[in-house]
Amino acid sequence: MTTSISDFLPITRPSIDEDTIAAVGEVLRSGWITSGPRVKEFEETLSARFGGRPVRAVNSGTAALELALRLCGIGAGAEVITTPMSWVATAGVVLEVGARPVFVDIDPVTRNLDLERVEAAITPRTRAIIAVDLAGLPLDRDRLYEIAQRHALRVIEDAAQSIGARWRGREIGSFGDLVAISFHANKNITSAEGGCLVMNSREEARLFDKLRLLGVTRHADGGMDVDVQGCKANLTDVAAAIGLGQLRRLDAFNARRRELARLYFQHFDRTLGAELPPDDAASAPAQGNWHMFQALLPFERCGLTRGRFIERMKARGIGIGVHYPAMHLFTLFRNLGHGPGDFPQAERVGAQTVTLPLFPAMRDEDVLRVCAALREELAPRRAGAGACA
Ligand SMILES: *Cc1c(COP(=O)(O)O)cnc(C)c1O
Repeated sequence: MTTSISDFLPITRPSIDEDTIAAVGEVLRSGWITSGPRVKEFEETLSARFGGRPVRAVNSGTAALELALRLCGIGAGAEVITTPMSWVATAGVVLEVGARPVFVDIDPVTRNLDLERVEAAITPRTRAIIAVDLAGLPLDRDRLYEIAQRHALRVIEDAAQSIGARWRGREIGSFGDLVAISFHANKNITSAEGGCLVMNSREEARLFDKLRLLGVTRHADGGMDVDVQGCKANLTDVAAAIGLGQLRRLDAFNARRRELARLYFQHFDRTLGAELPPDDAASAPAQGNWHMFQALLPFERCGLTRGRFIERMKARGIGIGVHYPAMHLFTLFRNLGHGPGDFPQAERVGAQTVTLPLFPAMRDEDVLRVCAALREELAPRRAGAGACA
């Protein structure tokens, strides 16, 4: 089977329009290319979207998460509860500030943190919960904030994947405690690299302004002071110009993603024995932004490995991703004492999950092509193995 590169269907691809490319050109010609007026405009536009809450942009979602921890004064000796089913940044930032990530297993249906297990993991050292919305499906905010309030914990929402998603009709970012968003190239909107943090007050935003630029406060007389240790995480105007162009299209992008997800639900062969993501019908409290469409495939029962499956799909011109192998099984976390069996749900999802192509520029027929390829790869094996369905 041969497929030309141009036919290859990747799992995702950013849609950048000509207006945005022109806006980047303007920034480059303006003589001011790093943090300046476009960053300010980007922050103000995001803030307006999030009900006027203070927003600050940084050069990655990872930086937004790390600075959120620093903003809360979380460091050595503290514990932070989070999920093992996320991008490694989620727990990596906890280590980066010198605190300890405490993993709690996931709910096998939503694949998000199992909030029923969180309270058992709280100790006197627990300071915060980092709550991830995997694939853009919001974690239960009612239960999350109920637990946080009862135990006086900060919440850092890792909404890297969930911009535009809603919980009980309210947009993620417009309520809650600290909310970190990513504008990495693979996210629903991008600034190539970038991120932002939504905060609660001007005071927090003022401290954040210092933390993202080496702790510097500039005085009107040209002097300066540094009274906290910060890092170098400011966003450039080049990136902000891309972000502004993308933000204008966020709702249209997410609407198209939702249509494509509906098509997957409609055409996915239910006899293949796959577990599909929760179908967030209009009445569901959690309305995702369909950052990813992930299926759990019964590789073992099909006598197939995930690696082999990915290879075979690639040969058909279809990209398949894995988001994510369970994080606690990475060497870094095994060296901290974790191992197989610690979080069985995350391990099962991590072993079986595949991410199917989903991005706004995809055509309806691309979904049909993916569904047909899945059927051709998995159905004969199911019949042969007898017990695949
Ligand atoms: C992408 C992502 C991050 C990190 O964002 P970057 O902009 O890549 O640094 C953090 N957490 C989750 C869940 C992500 O998907």
